[in-house]
Amino acid sequence: MRAVVLGGAGFLGSHLCDALVTRGDEVICIDNEVTGGRENVRHLEDRGLSFLHADIVAGIVVDGVVDAVFHLASAASPPDYQRIPIATLRAGSEGTLHALELAAHKKARFLVTSTSEVYGDPAIHPQPESYWGNVNPVGLRSCYDEAKRFSEALTVAYQRERGLCVQIARIFNTYGPRMRLDDGRVLPNFVGQALRGEPLTIFGDGTQTRSFCYVDDLIRGFLLLIEKGDGMPVNLGNPTELTMIEFANAVQRVAGTKLPLERKPLPPDDPKRRRPDISRAKKLLGWEPMVSLEDGLKKTVAFYRSSGDRSS
Ligand code: UDP
Repeated sequence: MRAVVLGGAGFLGSHLCDALVTRGDEVICIDNEVTGGRENVRHLEDRGLSFLHADIVAGIVVDGVVDAVFHLASAASPPDYQRIPIATLRAGSEGTLHALELAAHKKARFLVTSTSEVYGDPAIHPQPESYWGNVNPVGLRSCYDEAKRFSEALTVAYQRERGLCVQIARIFNTYGPRMRLDDGRVLPNFVGQALRGEPLTIFGDGTQTRSFCYVDDLIRGFLLLIEKGDGMPVNLGNPTELTMIEFANAVQRVAGTKLPLERKPLPPDDPKRRRPDISRAKKLLGWEPMVSLEDGLKKTVAFYRSSGDRSS
């Protein structure tokens, strides 16, 4: 097929481009390189991927047939999106509008990447898709959470009013090669600190939880979702839940370090716990994660050890 990947030069986008090119699809990768970078997809440029540096907020122009539009264009790390809250809201609103118009015009299938952040600081645990969430509309995370909630609303509006074939992936914490080591998320922070021999920074008391999915599992979920989804949101994530102290210990086990943990203040509105209920993905797509935390961390640490970090 001929696929457009918006945000295709980012962490998840570049892995999706890898998977599409590997199975023989033609890919048009569009990215404004604010948090991603063309170097993440350069290895695909002579194998069926064309790269276009453009901001989807300004509009999207693609010639010819398009079979699928994947919309992954957004900052996703809390420090990144809090640095550019207006651009983040615009990517989720005007950007999503342009992405949906492109899909409608081309009669293409559409997949938008939403987030576990639509559940905010969840009062229900684990989180099923039927939970409506607990989001602070004016908190530090609201630029991301509300942009993604608006994206979902606009996506289902195009489905209802224009009959577009849409899918919504609610992504939980994901990790793997090509995250920027300076993006501020917990995995790049811990791995970077371990490899530099620095203390691992724990925000708050470190008892807050997250559930980490290896990137290859997630991308497999996207491809299944765009083929088999029923138009309603689907959680994609790994249900193995860890406290941040447990996660720091897991990173150190794989990296072979015994560095101290250093406490830092907990940022405001930091969700206390998060774990996906993936029953829907299992039933609808036959999907569940296959890569264990240990194997995923080994691959990730090996990537950064071989100086794969483009931010340093
Ligand atoms: N965190 C931490 N140390 C760090 C960076 C993050 O303890 O150096 C915590 C953060 O407070 C949060 C969790 O790790 O509770 C996950 O943070 P991340 O920014 O990766 O993503 P989030 O799931 O909060 O969007």
